[in-house]
Amino acid sequence: LREIVSEHSDLPAETQDGERVSLQLNLGVSTENQYLQQLNVDGVGLYRSEIPFMMRERLPTEDEQVEMYRQVLDQFPDQPVVMRTLDVGGDKPLPYLPLQEDNPFLGWRGIRLTLDHPEIFLMQIRAMLRASIGRNNLRILLPMVTSTSEVDEASRMIHQAYFEVAEEQGCEVGENLFQPQLGVMIEVPAAIYQLEAIAAKVDFFSVGSNDLTQYLLAVDRNNRRVASLYDAYHPAVLASLDEIAKRCRDLNKPVSVCGELAGDPGGALLLVAMGYRTLSMNSFNIDRVRWILRNVRSSTLQVMLAKALQARYPEQIRKMITAKMESLG
Ligand code: PEP
Ligand code: MG
Repeated sequence: LREIVSEHSDLPAETQDGERVSLQLNLGVSTENQYLQQLNVDGVGLYRSEIPFMMRERLPTEDEQVEMYRQVLDQFPDQPVVMRTLDVGGDKPLPYLPLQEDNPFLGWRGIRLTLDHPEIFLMQIRAMLRASIGRNNLRILLPMVTSTSEVDEASRMIHQAYFEVAEEQGCEVGENLFQPQLGVMIEVPAAIYQLEAIAAKVDFFSVGSNDLTQYLLAVDRNNRRVASLYDAYHPAVLASLDEIAKRCRDLNKPVSVCGELAGDPGGALLLVAMGYRTLSMNSFNIDRVRWILRNVRSSTLQVMLAKALQARYPEQIRKMITAKMESLG
């Protein structure tokens, strides 16, 4: 199977009736890894900037960050690179910023933490912007957004950083320093009900199906005792993903999915059926998802989705997907 899958790796991710899907990479640490560079992808859909922060013993300096980000931007010079701002807290503690909270997943994490520490946020944005000088592929993504005011505050700081960097580095605004597109993660359920208000302030959305599943189902994604309840095929999760796709289409706002569901071949089929045309995933899923997409027709996907959205139990959906996979070999 591996050989059959890799035979397709140079071809576009496209259904048999020509629906083209962009496959992007989820990255943690930038690697010089040749394998990544050879992969046929449409850029980076999620660079988890917190990972290099977690691997250090202290906060990286602005210069160190510039170096880190430049490596990633340089690796994909002609493709978009979506850099998410620091998403620590919850299950991702920083060794040098100990947090004691009874409910870390409902606590000080993601954008909440960085807006309370503007010096950390500004330093990171300045570093991303400096790294992007001479390039036009940086996009910035805000994690764990719950309220419109968080987007306002973050935008204000990004603006400030942009003009500071332009002046300090003697850049020509719009010539060798571009204003990056700004996006928001849809992963806190509250954001779904404010899509319109948030859409007016940003360029794109990216659905974090991992956290969205956790918060919709009120199930800690890392607690083994409730692991069986954590299920992205839960009808409530699929209904909300479908709703997000529809609303974004109505709002004419680009939307992608960067949670694990996008890299799961069955999940990818459902997401494409819903209308998502950009999926971001770990490197090892890229060719599997490409292969499966190249072996289906959108009409079949629509039938599958209609059934999935009517299912009462995740098991029904899983069974249907397994049957589909088996029919494809
Ligand atoms: C998500 O929540 O789906 C996501 C992509 O972000 P992370 O897994 O890093 O929280
Ligand atoms: Mg998340």
